[in-house]
Amino acid sequence: MHFSSYQDLRSGLLTRKITCEEVIQSYLERIDRHCDDNIFLAVFHETALSRARSLDRKLSEGAAPGRLFGMPMAIKDNIAMKGARLTCASRILENYESVYDATVIERLMDEDAVLIGKTNMDEFAMGSSNENSAFGPVANPFDKTRVPGGSSGGSAAAVAAGLALVALGSDTGGSVRQPAGFCDIVGLKPTYGRISRYGLVAFASSFDQIGILARNSNDAALVLSVMAGADERDATSSHHPVSSYTEEMAGVSPQGLKIGVPKEFFHESLNPDVARLVKAKLEELRQNGAELVDITLPASDYAIAAYYILVTAEASSNLARFDGARYGYRSPDCDNLSAMYVNSRTEGFGKEVKRRIMLGTYVLSAGYYDTYYKKAQQVRRVFQDRYREALEMVDVIAGPTSPFPPFGIGDKMDDPLEMYLADVFTVPASIVGMPAISVPVGYDSLNLPVGMHLICNFFEEGKLLGIAGLMQHSIVSEKS
Ligand code: GLN
Repeated sequence: MHFSSYQDLRSGLLTRKITCEEVIQSYLERIDRHCDDNIFLAVFHETALSRARSLDRKLSEGAAPGRLFGMPMAIKDNIAMKGARLTCASRILENYESVYDATVIERLMDEDAVLIGKTNMDEFAMGSSNENSAFGPVANPFDKTRVPGGSSGGSAAAVAAGLALVALGSDTGGSVRQPAGFCDIVGLKPTYGRISRYGLVAFASSFDQIGILARNSNDAALVLSVMAGADERDATSSHHPVSSYTEEMAGVSPQGLKIGVPKEFFHESLNPDVARLVKAKLEELRQNGAELVDITLPASDYAIAAYYILVTAEASSNLARFDGARYGYRSPDCDNLSAMYVNSRTEGFGKEVKRRIMLGTYVLSAGYYDTYYKKAQQVRRVFQDRYREALEMVDVIAGPTSPFPPFGIGDKMDDPLEMYLADVFTVPASIVGMPAISVPVGYDSLNLPVGMHLICNFFEEGKLLGIAGLMQHSIVSEKS
């Protein structure tokens, strides 16, 4: 059983051609067949099936189906679901079970979605390849020797391989968009504050947003409309009214659309296939009536530097709560309080997480605060001003999602700085807090997927999804 869009699946369910139980059963079987790819950290065989049966009953009793009725969804393992393990792909939380649901989980459940499992990720969402998971890497469905991107690598691979129709990820600097680009699907990071972060394990709180991985922009728009909106349990969630994203999308046309193309994004170091495919897609839109406008933006390498200073600073503070006392793992080897802290954290955290905690405490330390942290905050402000100005002139800023196509498992693990470059195009939208999306635009010479990255102004998700819809190449084929 295969569905390329929720509309497909929904009409089958509502006309009773198929039952929810059959759909969920077939997704679960597919997940079991793919278990070697390490995409899921937990699969809810029984609860998903019993929920599917109760949704079937609900429909046969004549109750109105919710907006996500029967949608099989996967959830990144840093989002809390009551009674389920919440590992963040870390040893330190390996046996930790959440005692409450994230706001997004409540909202999805209220609209009759079926949550089928928790997906693998980079530990605490730190990484670009999913190789920093304490539970092993994830295979890219297009080429199993390659990474699916990260940190939401499991969520992206699940959607690309047809193991879930839509998945949730989290995006701090590109973790939804970059893996979407690597797996030939759509990945949306909404405006900062658009979706409640209550129940999302914090990495860098002023950047983190829950995002959506889907096979097309329409499905992403639907799920966004369910999850978006203010939440009294997250003071940073926005009260900006939630639009009808599907309607707004339908109103977007290439005629007169102004697409800003920063020349800095097409530096000569950009992979030539990526450059060719992205330019070809932009040219296609131009021929359909859009205007391509050359713009300049601050150099992206400043974004990478500022990003890694700011997020490590925030992470070092957020991760202080994992101390062996309050949550998760406690080292058996501790005969005093300080040994408990030190040994629990030493044994519980992986290498990249430790690197970031050390970097974060360093940039916040008294002697270096002004040189690094304060400077990076100033850079953040410059980026915010320049992106705002650019989006007064154009509707959208376009470029590649990643400077290179999916790389081999193990290729960049010895060089963290090289790995950080994977985020060079996605990080600016996170620094400024604007909504951004990755949309598939074609395949390189090795038949690997390439994504286009689009940024719109604050709260313009409807327009952004509409433009992505104009660009997506004919719907992705299922990879198995
Ligand atoms: N790859 C980036 C990092 O390692 C982004 C991670 C994210 O968005 N969670 O920080």
